Amino acid sequence: MAIPKVNKDECTGCEECVEECPADAISMANEVAVISQDDCTECSACVDTCPAEAIIEEG
Ligand code: SF4
Ligand code: SF4
Repeated sequence: MAIPKVNKDECTGCEECVEECPADAISMANEVAVISQDDCTECSACVDTCPAEAIIEEG
């Protein structure tokens, strides 16, 4: 498990991950999702939710 990363080039700004994140760890900046390193609980919900497959879990 690791904190996922957002691929800025793939993110469409749909905000579905913002709605899905149970920890409220995702916010938008310049229409790109940003994951808070402090708030993320590494649950992977956003990785499965993103329709653009822009959120990638590493490690
Ligand atoms: S892994 Fe879970 S807690 Fe972390 S940003 Fe994604 S949905 Fe939120
Ligand atoms: S769900 Fe994916 S495409 Fe939509 S805002 Fe989040 S990272 Fe971007």
